Amino acid sequence: MSNKNNKVKFGTKAIHKGQKPEELYGSVSLPIYQTSTFKQNKIGEYIYDYSRAGNPTRTNLEMNICSLENGKDAIAFSSGLAAISSIAQLFKAGDHFIFTENVYGGTFRLMNKIMNKFKIEQSWVDTSIASNVESSIKPNTKLIFIESPTNPMMQLSDISDICKIAKKHNIMVAVDNTFMSPYFQRPLELGADFVVHSTTKYLNGHSDVIGGIVVTNRNDLAEELHFIQMSVGAVPGPFDCWLTQRSLKTLHVRMRRHDENGRAMAEYLSKCDKIGKVFYPGLPNHPHHELAKKQQLDPNGEPGFGAMISIDLETLERASSFTERLEIFTLAESLGGVESLICHPAKMTHASIPNDKRKKLGISDGLLRLSVGIEDIDDLISDIKLGLSNI
Ligand code: PLP
Repeated sequence: MSNKNNKVKFGTKAIHKGQKPEELYGSVSLPIYQTSTFKQNKIGEYIYDYSRAGNPTRTNLEMNICSLENGKDAIAFSSGLAAISSIAQLFKAGDHFIFTENVYGGTFRLMNKIMNKFKIEQSWVDTSIASNVESSIKPNTKLIFIESPTNPMMQLSDISDICKIAKKHNIMVAVDNTFMSPYFQRPLELGADFVVHSTTKYLNGHSDVIGGIVVTNRNDLAEELHFIQMSVGAVPGPFDCWLTQRSLKTLHVRMRRHDENGRAMAEYLSKCDKIGKVFYPGLPNHPHHELAKKQQLDPNGEPGFGAMISIDLETLERASSFTERLEIFTLAESLGGVESLICHPAKMTHASIPNDKRKKLGISDGLLRLSVGIEDIDDLISDIKLGLSNI
């Protein structure tokens, strides 16, 4: 299939984009170009010269994810955080960034402990209210970084509204789309300049690779990001690219099932007396449910809410008793894999956020975050019942 043909639908793109059978033997599953360097026939005559600068397996992955996000180019990195730091490296000392205040803990740590040293000014605001973004803009604001839905409080920001504000002020917008994947949310179509993913999560989907990617619809930014990728060197290895690419072929099927299980699980959890609060944008009482229905759309325009759910069990003791009794949900960091995971953000993914800030965001000691996998939903609900029986 021609890589220029963008007319085919999402599932076909996931399986075929950038995946033309290899020419030498016609291998349908593309080879893993597990090489650090490439032979040059004459000095300077080559397609690829060195795998930090480029590798065919990495190009296949980049082309594929680029097509799913409807971008112009994609640049792969060795982790989601490497992808986010590469966006920051486009800017210079004295520039100001506005962030969604509740982001993944590692994003906060990167900005607060590393980028701070390079004098990147930062404002952390509740971007779920678009006017907060506008009132935080300064003359040196260069980037608005949105996470929607947020990890782990499941707050949404109106990407389209924020992009309109940003355009008025000539500011770029990056969206961390890790929780939704391009199957349920395509921020470039809503006006963003960059989409970033921890491909470790839904895009790879099998909990066996760490990776990241930035997709953009601006050729000038893509060129700069490829330069950063090559110069800084946080590149993914060919085997990791191949594994992620293999997983992408089932992204649409997995995401549909995740969404089905996520909805059923959230509905069940919301009826359990022992659970204080359930945070899931698919529930009609979620404060951003209407925005979710408008913004999180599958490729056919139907709303999707995904499979990330947070629950508040009020105390650490209750949360511990609950997780200790579970047999199918695994207590572990990360999310987005086919297997269900559960984590305790305050002690795990968001431990690097100071206590008072965590409390302000609602990341209490009783909060648990569920990544609902694609197992049989009846078994997952039975597992939750088991956990609750231990409180
Ligand atoms: N963004 C989000 C929303 C995440 O949840 C994570 C990791 O959990 C990251 C970025 C960082 O990705 P990685 O762990 O691949 O560096």
